[in-house]
Amino acid sequence: MLFTFEVRTEGKFQVVDVTRSVQEAVWKSDVAHGIAVVLTPHTTTGLMINEYEPGLVGDIEAKMEELVPMGAGYAHDRIDSNAHSHIRATLFLNPEVVIPVDQGELQLGTWQRVLLVELDGPRRRRVQVMVCPCPAYPEEGR
Ligand code: ZN
Repeated sequence: MLFTFEVRTEGKFQVVDVTRSVQEAVWKSDVAHGIAVVLTPHTTTGLMINEYEPGLVGDIEAKMEELVPMGAGYAHDRIDSNAHSHIRATLFLNPEVVIPVDQGELQLGTWQRVLLVELDGPRRRRVQVMVCPCPAYPEEGR
């Protein structure tokens, strides 16, 4: 089953911690053992798994602006003014992340969060979660 939730972003650049919503989709799926595929179906957002700490979020924004500045003569800016957003999405992020699920829980590290990165906000964005069961092998967990 495919679960979808919406995120309303408020800034041009924004990092939103969506871990709780992804975990809730996993619980609703009733899959105890498998993988969660998380996708943001937009061309100017991306997902990452990392620490959600304000200083780090600022560092990531600053580094993206430094490496892919806005309005640097991109061809796409002739039809739309957001080439930098598309380029940042494709160079620095992926539209999807895949996370193992065990006993109904996302298997993330202590400091790992699932983060939606808005690169051309504010907008209404969607995040899709598909939870796929995997066979459990008897030797697992030994
Ligand atoms: Zn565009």
